Amino acid sequence: MSESRSALALSSVPALRVGSLNRHPPAPNGNYILYWMTAFRRTRHNFALQRAVEWANELQRPLIVLEALRVDYPWASDRFHRFILDGMASNRAAFAPTNATYYPYAEHEPGAGKGLVRALASQACVVVTDDYPAFFLPRAASAAAASVDVLKEAVDSNGIHALRAPGKEFATAHAFRRWLQSNISEDLETFPLADPLSDLPSTRRAEVPDAITTRWPMADLEPAVTNKLIRALPLDHSVAPVDQMGGARAAGARLSNFIDRLARYDAERNHPDSGGGSGLSPYLHFGHISSHEIFRAVADAESWSVADISGRRDGGRSGFWGMSDPAEAFLDELITWRELGFNFCAHRNDYDHYGSLPEWSRRTLEERASDPRPEQYSLEELEQACTADSLWNAAQTQLLRDGVIHNYLRMLWGKRILEWTQSPREALDRMIHLNNKYALDGRDPNSYSGVFWVLGRYDRAWGPRRPIFGTVRYMSSANTARKLRVRDYMNRYAPRSQQSMSR
Ligand SMILES: Cc1cc2nc3c(=O)[nH]c(=O)nc-3n(C[C@H](O)[C@H](O)[C@H](O)COP(=O)(O)OP(=O)(O)OC[C@H]3O[C@@H](n4cnc5c(N)ncnc54)[C@H](O)[C@@H]3O)c2cc1C
Repeated sequence: MSESRSALALSSVPALRVGSLNRHPPAPNGNYILYWMTAFRRTRHNFALQRAVEWANELQRPLIVLEALRVDYPWASDRFHRFILDGMASNRAAFAPTNATYYPYAEHEPGAGKGLVRALASQACVVVTDDYPAFFLPRAASAAAASVDVLKEAVDSNGIHALRAPGKEFATAHAFRRWLQSNISEDLETFPLADPLSDLPSTRRAEVPDAITTRWPMADLEPAVTNKLIRALPLDHSVAPVDQMGGARAAGARLSNFIDRLARYDAERNHPDSGGGSGLSPYLHFGHISSHEIFRAVADAESWSVADISGRRDGGRSGFWGMSDPAEAFLDELITWRELGFNFCAHRNDYDHYGSLPEWSRRTLEERASDPRPEQYSLEELEQACTADSLWNAAQTQLLRDGVIHNYLRMLWGKRILEWTQSPREALDRMIHLNNKYALDGRDPNSYSGVFWVLGRYDRAWGPRRPIFGTVRYMSSANTARKLRVRDYMNRYAPRSQQSMSR
């Protein structure tokens, strides 16, 4: 992606966040600006939408926002479709009182949406889309850019720090944190507008041409209709929807609930019985909430201002922001750890390949690759939570049932898969598959940070040297259960009759 050569004179969106996906100029005689929303599925705190609104003002044209849902994305299931469609219903309500035309589209069979972006773009002045660094989205954005005849921009609204600012990837969280501590102040001055749609010009609303809506009808987002659609589509119906609702409204409610619990975050987060985490990762993944909004809510709760930032630039985990310990601990996850993974995907095309592991971990894992595995399970046995380790089974059951795994147990979940599988490469494939198939927050840059961390990414060598793991960090279920409060969790996800704890 090249830096934007746009004709937009004054933009409030930082230049580093905007790139051109093709070499075409804007078409000033087009009928509207098209924002193709693919990853930042929200109306607020969204640089891409803000950029599209700027174009609408610059060229005095109305705005069409296309939010589309295809059928054949990898691991497509009832669970993810339901969550995304909830989000689309929430967006429809948010767009309704504005001057923008919201165009929700859901494929009714694989491939039915092909040609829609091109058809809409043919009458647009400019196309703006989301710059998301993982899954099939970068390929889809580039392919569509090649097929349109007007300027197509991709805008980064992934996180607090501009994705491409460092120009390199980082081997450890400490190195990235150090970089952030020296470089994040500019990002703090350029937050996206909370409500970019309030700046839309007062032109008449754009009409989507009839020829387009006849071939690609706008989705009816009533739950009864979308439930019926989901049942009829060739999705993986064995991965059922969860109780949790998707969408920006539900995300906002979860954020408020978490802010009330923020003071207990660092003490409670690791204990499965207390559920001290925010639970925001599914909403972050689908773009239903932005980390800017979350940051602002934390800062407000802490009565914080930029002037409170300390002089600390040593990469230490706390003390940089000048906030309470729980708030600093939370921001370290939300910014350092989350954006570390986004940074890696943006800078490495091989982010999901075994070869992207650090050299030391590949070497030690290969040295131990032929060690006998005390227990081995097939993918089916793992998938159905049928191992001899009831804590692991509980974590897998939570994943199957609720689409999430408690954060600490997620680390153990991965470590045991490494131990129970023929080779580290096979362990990697299984982790990626199970995580992406069932987790609401899967298929995300952090899915790859997490599963590759199990094999050594972002970590260092640990002694003693062990079978299978070599010097890659080891975790055992027995130790984990001793350290954490898990009684209620076990009762919920692994009834007593099934409990047995291996090492
Ligand atoms: C094997 C494995 C797989 C993982 N797969 C995913 C995944 O598919 N998607 C995903 O978002 N995270 C993944 N993680 C990271 C982490 O488990 C989740 O981000 C976290 O549990 C989400 O819960 P929460 O929203 O309550 O987090 P909180 O503790 O409330 O943290 C707030 C936010 O910070 C970010 N965050 C927190 N912990 C981490 C972390 N360790 N690494 C990166 N970002 C973090 C998330 O965006 C999270 O929503 C994985 C970790 C492991 C070990």
